[in-house]
Amino acid sequence: MKRFFLILLLIFLHTAAIATESNNALSQLIDVEKNYENTIATQGYYLLESDKALNLQQIQQADKEGKFRYITQDVPSFPYNSPAVWLKFNIDNHTSESQLRRLIIDTPWIDYIDMYVIDAKGKVSLYRGGDERAIRERAIKSRMFIAEHPYQPGISVVYIRVQVDEPLMLPVYFYRVDESIKYQVMNAYHYGILYGVITGLLFFNLLLYLSIKQKRYLYYVFYLAMYLLMVISYASHGFFYLWKDAFVFQKWVTTISITLYSTAGVLFALAFLRVKKVFPSIYKAAIYTVFSILLIQFFLILFGIYGVSVLISILYVTLFSLFTFGLAVLCYRKGHRDAMYYLVATIATLIGSVVAMFSVIGIVPYTYVIYHLSESSVAFDAILLSIALAEQIRRAEKEKMQAQQLARIDRLTHLGNRLDFEEQSQEIWDKTQINNLELSFIMLDLDHFKNINDQYGHAIGDEVLKDVSAAIQEVVRDSDMLVRWGGEEFAIILPGTALSQACMLAERIRKHIQQREIKVADKLIRVTASLGVAQRTATSCSMSDLFSEADKQLYQAKQAGRNQVSC
Ligand code: GH3
Ligand code: MG
Ligand code: MG
Repeated sequence: MKRFFLILLLIFLHTAAIATESNNALSQLIDVEKNYENTIATQGYYLLESDKALNLQQIQQADKEGKFRYITQDVPSFPYNSPAVWLKFNIDNHTSESQLRRLIIDTPWIDYIDMYVIDAKGKVSLYRGGDERAIRERAIKSRMFIAEHPYQPGISVVYIRVQVDEPLMLPVYFYRVDESIKYQVMNAYHYGILYGVITGLLFFNLLLYLSIKQKRYLYYVFYLAMYLLMVISYASHGFFYLWKDAFVFQKWVTTISITLYSTAGVLFALAFLRVKKVFPSIYKAAIYTVFSILLIQFFLILFGIYGVSVLISILYVTLFSLFTFGLAVLCYRKGHRDAMYYLVATIATLIGSVVAMFSVIGIVPYTYVIYHLSESSVAFDAILLSIALAEQIRRAEKEKMQAQQLARIDRLTHLGNRLDFEEQSQEIWDKTQINNLELSFIMLDLDHFKNINDQYGHAIGDEVLKDVSAAIQEVVRDSDMLVRWGGEEFAIILPGTALSQACMLAERIRKHIQQREIKVADKLIRVTASLGVAQRTATSCSMSDLFSEADKQLYQAKQAGRNQVSC
């Protein structure tokens, strides 16, 4: 993960400190019969090569001269661009038989590993590994370096030469065969779960993108995909299973995936935090920076300038973490709700990385779980951000539904409006048709309402409309649907009601309105209404036939002198 490389960078500072700590007392022994659960590094010694590569004789000579130093970290680490490192361990087999043991170095991106075992009789055995060499050269086929050796009685000296272009960490384990298999299985589970979680989230967000078509989901998918590629390449699963022995590709794929991963991370953060809208100048600067870095990396790759490319990718991933974190803080301060998710996710990963770093430099006791915490916290990060993305959808959906509901309600009377009516009437039509039920419809229009407005003003007219709508509501039944049709017109649809019943109801409504004394601003106002009633017949083919029939009846009621029902 990005923080993983941040760790490496911080380790660089620490390494400078341990390098000065020298000691000549070469008396530490590794007991073959002892079970070393954690790394054995502090039982060993190291020596940094100068510019010239040393061979076994030269390193033995250097050892005699006391040039090896104690290792003080559980996982010794060396900065980017350091020369090759030699490790030394003294393996003590005080039994009378040879003992089969495995030495594991779980840093799969190492270019070359040469491990020499010199037994008490001076016999030399050599084990080779590293991803600049073919997989078939590995005695034990594994993505990590595993050397299985029968340690003879007496003290065997192990020298390991490690050479790499990138920053280096050396978790070295010394296991019995069964313990080694246990370690490998646990390691496989850990990566299996990590890949499973990330792949699952990747497809989940890809489907979201395909249905919602919002760019931020695509960036997130890209971000997860690049994260996967990055881990697959630095953990060497790619080299071991996918692009077997493709040395050039293996060499470049990590730095390329780190670069693309950081790019995707920035693009995602910009989209997720809606930076373009809130901080347009930061947005512009970020986009320019990202594309400049991509351009520089493109040319470095084109001309094969590997060292600089690695350095830029490490700096880029570090800057990306700090930049997006700062951005999230800014957005949170501006009241962006989702920035909180981003912050929590980032802080969790940051804590994971810092704890992992502390375990590497010995502040926190080293364990496998703590060492890999930065990777696990990414899974947590990814889950949290997926939840945040889903939460954004949920919120947008809710807002849309609220807007839709609002659009169907009349603001003055709080009755449903014509849109609401049109949406529901078809369903009512079909339901009653299928069940062979009667269906009636009443259209109501207030009489000479213009005069009310003219006499009392529009505001009082509104109050009257409100009062009348409440009055109608008092009379209609729960199964009936009353809406404001528009202006001073109301409509009622009456499922399961025959014409005669509908006319009786219309008459009751008419009377109820007529008898009402509406009190508004110390004035007593009376209104009347005309109503037209229609029923579905064999010739009415649709809802609109029913409307026009009721409208005709209403017109007749008006013609006949108003304040009456026409059926
Ligand atoms: P008729 O008996 O023929 O229906 O006469 P009318 O005056 O009621 O009919 P007309 O359709 O000519 O006028 C309707 C009036 O209703 C005109 C308009 O000012 C008034 N009106 C419509 N909507 C509202 C409203 O929301 N608030 C108020 N205050 N008045 C409204
Ligand atoms: Mg009217
Ligand atoms: Mg009217």
